[in-house]
Parts: sequence; structure tokens; C-alpha cells
Amino acid sequence: MISRRTILKRLSAMPLLGGIIGSAAPLSSAVAATALAPRNLVKELGIRTFINAAGTYTAMTGSLMQDEVMETIQAASKEFMMLDDVQTKVGEKIAAIVHAESAVVTAGCFSAMTLGLAGVLTGMDQKKVEALPQLEGTGMKSEVIVQKGHNVGYSHALTNTGCKMVFVETVEEVEKAINEKTAMMWFLHIQSDQGKIMHQEWVNLAKKHNIPTMIDIAADVPPVENLWKFHEMGFDLVCVSGGKAMRGPQSAGILMGKKHLIAAARLSMPPRGSTIGRGMKVNKEEILGMYVALEKFVGQDQQKEWKMWEDRVAHIADAVKKVNGVTTETIRPELGNHTPTLRIKWEPAKINLTTKALQEALRNGDPSIEIVGEQGGISLTTWMLKPGQEKIVATRLKEELAKAAV
Ligand SMILES: *Cc1c(COP(=O)(O)O)cnc(C)c1O
Repeated sequence: MISRRTILKRLSAMPLLGGIIGSAAPLSSAVAATALAPRNLVKELGIRTFINAAGTYTAMTGSLMQDEVMETIQAASKEFMMLDDVQTKVGEKIAAIVHAESAVVTAGCFSAMTLGLAGVLTGMDQKKVEALPQLEGTGMKSEVIVQKGHNVGYSHALTNTGCKMVFVETVEEVEKAINEKTAMMWFLHIQSDQGKIMHQEWVNLAKKHNIPTMIDIAADVPPVENLWKFHEMGFDLVCVSGGKAMRGPQSAGILMGKKHLIAAARLSMPPRGSTIGRGMKVNKEEILGMYVALEKFVGQDQQKEWKMWEDRVAHIADAVKKVNGVTTETIRPELGNHTPTLRIKWEPAKINLTTKALQEALRNGDPSIEIVGEQGGISLTTWMLKPGQEKIVATRLKEELAKAAV
């Protein structure tokens, strides 16, 4: 343990602080400013920062929280609160915003899925909660039905409960797969065009057999309506990321839906130990920050945001098209990351540049810029740009493309 004395000694050993504390003369404002200058850890640790023209990627730390969210986090950090009390009060507010019976802030969409399924499996039975991920001999169900086309890495969140995935393609296969071990039917919105069964039919099938349903809409706002659309459609649980387009804390998400299932899911969440969810802690600051981010996201002028993204894309497209051999196309993905996305291609005969070389040049430039490498070109989005950064992206792209002209 560090004693109070040691701390004091260490403090006075710090030249600046020691000087200030020991100084009787009034501090010049320059000295005061230096003393108060916040530590620049980015510089100190040599961490690369960059203009994010790629999108809301976890590897790139998702999105940037807005001032209101950071102010909420700061203010919340000054007081103690009971974790359950924060979750309950915030949950009620979030539920009202998203038109759900109930909601809880989770450690991202991934943990929302694990915890939601845990709730489905255990109900309010404390013994079952403590048994997870052990299912055998507990009386709990153990299978989740998923369409083959929806089988991406994220379904791992469900197997964390001990459940196994059962893959189907057709309605007949669903009917055949359903048995007394079926716990839930899971749907992945972003892959809905890769499956044969669409949302409503999936819900109807499950309802016919009294099986709970869950949908993953992690990266599917905007459109903002997606926050309530799927409850209204009949999904029992809806999971969304907080740190993507909503710009909440990167490590937060929301589990929303039926009251009895959210209550059950919370039994597997902190502060309760002896649970599979004990490691999926969300602190009070982030719970409150998530709420404020959601409120702000739902309240903002969606059309104005969209127009801003479009204008930025147009600015970049206009600039790069000036280089002979470059073509652009703006696409607006319907599923996931629904934002204007600019695809840039170039004729290899006119511009001698690989996708990787362009990415590297932008990454190593000043300021550093991240874009997405694609087959035969690159793509970019503008929703994660700070105002004015589209000009830098346009200039740098044009520069690098023109430089490689043959
Ligand atoms: C990002 C994502 C997740 C994980 O969300 P986190 O909030 O990072 O936990 C799950 N599913 C899909 C489809 C995603 O895009």
C-alpha cells in the first residue's frame, strides 16, 4: 500500500507542482497555463490518430462521442450510485424512447445477445443463472435456430451461453428443426438478404411454436425507425450497438424488448457474480452516457444529417473525378451502415496505383487518413468526419491519384 506520506513526497518531487506549491510569488499566467495543460497521452504514447473516412469499425474505435455524452460521463463520475438503480431508471427512459416494454444498457451489442439469450434460458431461476454455461441436466433448453445465411462471427455471442446453433434454410427446415430443446430463433438484420426467410415470416413461425425471437440490429441505425420497428413486428428481444452511428460509448449497447426477458437477462449481469455476464460490466458513466447519446440521436434532424453526409461525399467525388481515369459511384446500403458511401475506381492503364499503396499513402500522410480497400478500388463514408475534414480527404486523395498518373 502506498502511504499518504509517500504520495505527498511524490507530489512535491514533481518539479512543476512542487514549484507551484512552494512558490509564494503570484504565478504568471504562462506558468499557470503550463501547469494546467492536460496531459497529451496520444503524444506521450505515440498513438496514431487519424481522419476516419472508413466508417464505424471497432478496430478504429467506432465513433466519437459528442460533447453532451462526455459531459454526462464527467458529471456521473463524481458521485456514487447503486448500479442497479442506474440501470433501472435509465432502462425505463430508453424503453420509452424505443417503444419497448423494457431495456438495459449492455457492454455492446455482442453482450446484449449473450445476456438476452441467458435470460431466455434461465427465466428468473437463480439456480439456472449460476449453472450457465452448463445446460445439460439443468432443465434448460440448448438450441438456437439460425438461417445459414445469417451465420457470421457474431453468432458466437449466443454459443457463449452453452447453446448450440442449428442451421436452417427453408420454412420446412425450421419446422423440422424445432423440438423441445429449442430455446430461441435468432435473426441477423444486416444479412437478411442472405436468408430465404424474411423478418415477419421468421417471427410468425416462432410465434406459432411459442419460441422467443431475437434480432441483431447492431449496425442498422440509421434509419432511426429501426429502433422501434422490430418490437412492433413482434421480435421479443432487439440488440443494438451504442458506439456506432448513435455515437454513444464504444463499449455500450442496448438490449431491449419484453419485460420478463430483460428482467431475467439482468440476473446474469453485474453487479451479480457467479454469472456468465459478470465480465460484461458497464459503468454508471457509460450507462448514463448511452442514454444521452440515444436521446440525442433520436432527436436530431435525420434529413439534415443525411444531407451533410451527401454533401461531403459529393465534395470528395467532384475532386477526385478531376483526375483522368478516375470514376466514382455513390451507393447507399440498405442493410447495415446505411449512409452515403463513395466508391472510387481508376483505370490501371492511366493510374499506376494499387489499392493497398493508396491506403498506405493516406495512412502515412499528414494527417493520417483511413479509407476502406475494395476489389479494384477504395470506398469511403463521411459520417465519422469532423466538419471540414472532407476537404482534407478530397485533397489528399486527388493528390495521390494524380501523382500515380502514367
Ligand atoms: C458491430 C456488430 C456487433 C457487435 O456489436 P458491439 O456493440 O461492438 O458489441 C454485432 N453484430 C453485428 C452485425 C455488428 O455489426
